[in-house]
Amino acid sequence: MPFCARRCSYCDFSIAVRRDVPVADYVDGIRRELELRARLEPLAPALDTIYLGGGTPSRLGGEGVAQVLGAIAAHTSWDASAEVTIEANPDDVTAERAGAWVEAGVNRVSLGAQTFDECALLWMRRTHDAEQIGRAVGVLREAGLRDISIDLIFALPASVPRSWQGDLERAIALRPNHVSVYGLTVEAHTPLGRWSERGEVTESPDTSYEREFLLAHATLEAAGYEHYEVSNYALPGARARHNSSYWRHVPYAAIGPAAHRFDGARRSWNVAPYAEWLARVRAGVEPTEGGESLGPDELECERAYIGLRTTDGLVVSGDVEARTSRWRDAGWATIVDGRLRLTALGWLRLDALAADLTLAGSR
Ligand code: SF4
Repeated sequence: MPFCARRCSYCDFSIAVRRDVPVADYVDGIRRELELRARLEPLAPALDTIYLGGGTPSRLGGEGVAQVLGAIAAHTSWDASAEVTIEANPDDVTAERAGAWVEAGVNRVSLGAQTFDECALLWMRRTHDAEQIGRAVGVLREAGLRDISIDLIFALPASVPRSWQGDLERAIALRPNHVSVYGLTVEAHTPLGRWSERGEVTESPDTSYEREFLLAHATLEAAGYEHYEVSNYALPGARARHNSSYWRHVPYAAIGPAAHRFDGARRSWNVAPYAEWLARVRAGVEPTEGGESLGPDELECERAYIGLRTTDGLVVSGDVEARTSRWRDAGWATIVDGRLRLTALGWLRLDALAADLTLAGSR
């Protein structure tokens, strides 16, 4: 759901900036793509999770979200035990919309807070202020939503002063049952990328990244949140089921511009620009832009990488124990119940460790 009111300074997602959201056109496109795909690769008869992601799905309003879920329900089914998540910006959350989302079956909201610091929010070009984050959480709870996740961003440039500890504490005070924490990266073709190119802003050094990553780990764990994936924390029983499925290689379908799907061996993705996607589905043309097939070796490498991202870790087999003894000596990993698990220090080296393990295994 690509519509945003404006582009945040750090965001390189394929979005469609719109002052007025073309809800009817978008829902029409979703219905058409679902019908096209039903002829080629029908949806599973029952879904475990649904994730309405963005862009900014909350800008579709109450009725728009209900229509999208209704369009999906025409091709498959799910029951009350399914996890149905919508991403929302705090300033889009009203009592009327939250009530309509619940009525339509939404039972989890991922709230894009990012920071509680007013200056940092302005620098990020977010459309909300800090007060709206707490108010949105209250409105969602009032509507009956208990599963609320809050997104935060760390490793801001030193020229954007804010207290990371303060942000963590204000998030914890709202008692969401899930928190996602992402390190800022400077991407080309974003406002931040341009500021960086012009020398107006300098990326946070690795030492600050590490310090803030470890501070989030210590602060959130002390508050009762389990650090169960490199970027994700949950109160007991509140892990994100949808994202956890990605980390277990569960097949998933996907609809909409830039959507990615996976059938267990092949990944494919739709064209990203909204106008092109809409034109294709209206012409009855399948909107897939590309794809990649994963052979047994590639799937095995991915499994290792994905396994190391989570506290589930990897089953220790072959010579993995011997090959990772240096990691354990350095405090980067442990072996518990026959599984190799990275520690927070290990997650700071995730890419290098995963490459080390998979490359060594393929020699
Ligand atoms: S609201 Fe989200 S998707 Fe939209 S520009 Fe900002 S970060 Fe990107």
